[in-house]
Amino acid sequence: MSPRVLAALSRPTIGHLDPEFQALMEDIKAALQRLMGAPDHACIPLPAPGTAGMEAAIMNLLEPGDRAVIAVNGAFGGRMADMAGRAGAEVVTVEDEWGKPVDPAKVEEALKAAPTKVLAFVHAETSTGARSDAAALCKLARQYGALSIVDTVTSLGGIPVDAAAWDADAIYSGTQKCLSAPPGLSPFALSKRAQAAIAARKEKPRNWLCDFGLLMSYWGGEGGRTYHHTAPINALYGLHESLVLLFEEGQQAAYVRHARMHEALAAGLEAAGLKLLVDAEHRLPQLNAVLVPDGIDEAAVRTHVLKAWDLEIGAGLGPLKGKVWRIGLMGASATPWHVRLCLTALCEALAAQGFKVNGAEVLKAADAKLA
Ligand SMILES: *Cc1c(COP(=O)(O)O)cnc(C)c1O
Repeated sequence: MSPRVLAALSRPTIGHLDPEFQALMEDIKAALQRLMGAPDHACIPLPAPGTAGMEAAIMNLLEPGDRAVIAVNGAFGGRMADMAGRAGAEVVTVEDEWGKPVDPAKVEEALKAAPTKVLAFVHAETSTGARSDAAALCKLARQYGALSIVDTVTSLGGIPVDAAAWDADAIYSGTQKCLSAPPGLSPFALSKRAQAAIAARKEKPRNWLCDFGLLMSYWGGEGGRTYHHTAPINALYGLHESLVLLFEEGQQAAYVRHARMHEALAAGLEAAGLKLLVDAEHRLPQLNAVLVPDGIDEAAVRTHVLKAWDLEIGAGLGPLKGKVWRIGLMGASATPWHVRLCLTALCEALAAQGFKVNGAEVLKAADAKLA
């Protein structure tokens, strides 16, 4: 996190119906509309982590008996399918191999088969580092009369998210990935079409805290605010500051920075003789899944870099457990310093296990992309 976000978090806590706080709420709503490319969506931060955004989208848009097509190409798609089942929906999953993007042709087959209420997918799959084509998938949803739910927890702030251009219905994110604010809030956007679908529900959504209609009585602002829950005031100061920082840098500039840091890291990894899991054209800049070479104790490498360099590298999840390391270059950690730190630490940990690697050459390859 930026020191400015940390400082914002420690500002005095005021009341959640204080006029000053209400002005901050309006600022945050407008900033989220701008960041998500969603001028006509209702945009609010939900008072819980990214998973709450996922649950809010699923519980508000699905009713018992509705058909939901859920693309699963990693851990988070699987979580959406579990939730849709709990909402009472008839769940059809479209599976792709972990490390591959969602295949639009398979999704189309599933949508063609029967009338579908919701198509849900993950834009940036954090468990694998694969990026799916959100524009194409949202377009398919429109074509077959389904509402789209897009998980942008890891994409928002790191690669373009454009709700209007995609014509997406529900988009949710998290604060602790590329926004570099603390965990605990979920930026959420809902289209007019999705709002109309909620208004036309036969029964109330089965969640109370993130029932969209109830939330808007507090966040909507028209005709005064009524108490719904006590907003996490200080966390919202932190989110606000992280959005100010992002707009100071410029959204496009932030995307370019993430892309450049990824190129530098990938060049260094390649010079070290390591390979990435995902094909170059579908790689996320902010999440790099690196294949563990044969004969290397992957957990020992993570322990080494954590103890010696105070650097945490993510482990593989699900079928990728023990097979990959996951290196995040998100928000405030997408910098040349972090790229060089990570490569240096990784080379040292690999060398400690007898892996032949020339640290100076690795840094040279990365630096060539940073020049
Ligand atoms: C992190 C993440 C989530 C869950 O967010 P939490 O803040 O951990 O609840 C959901 N989807 C994706 C793609 C994520 O990376």
